[in-house]
Amino acid sequence: MAYIITDECISCGACASECPVSCITEGDGKYVIDADACISCGTCASTCPVGAPVSND
Ligand code: SF4
Ligand code: SF4
Repeated sequence: MAYIITDECISCGACASECPVSCITEGDGKYVIDADACISCGTCASTCPVGAPVSND
């Protein structure tokens, strides 16, 4: 169980600085979440201006 970042991501970086376990990093064209570290808190989803992070439950 983790969140993933869809292609809607505009690489603003807002989610990365808000993630409590710092598992979001800048990737190729979008930010990416380390699924093994993500605790599914939902903070990235509520922070993102374009709704790119979604739960993969
Ligand atoms: Fe980080 Fe929480 Fe988003 Fe997982 S759901 S990437 S722990 S902010
Ligand atoms: Fe991408 Fe949203 Fe994170 Fe910004 S807050 S880097 S748009 S996922």
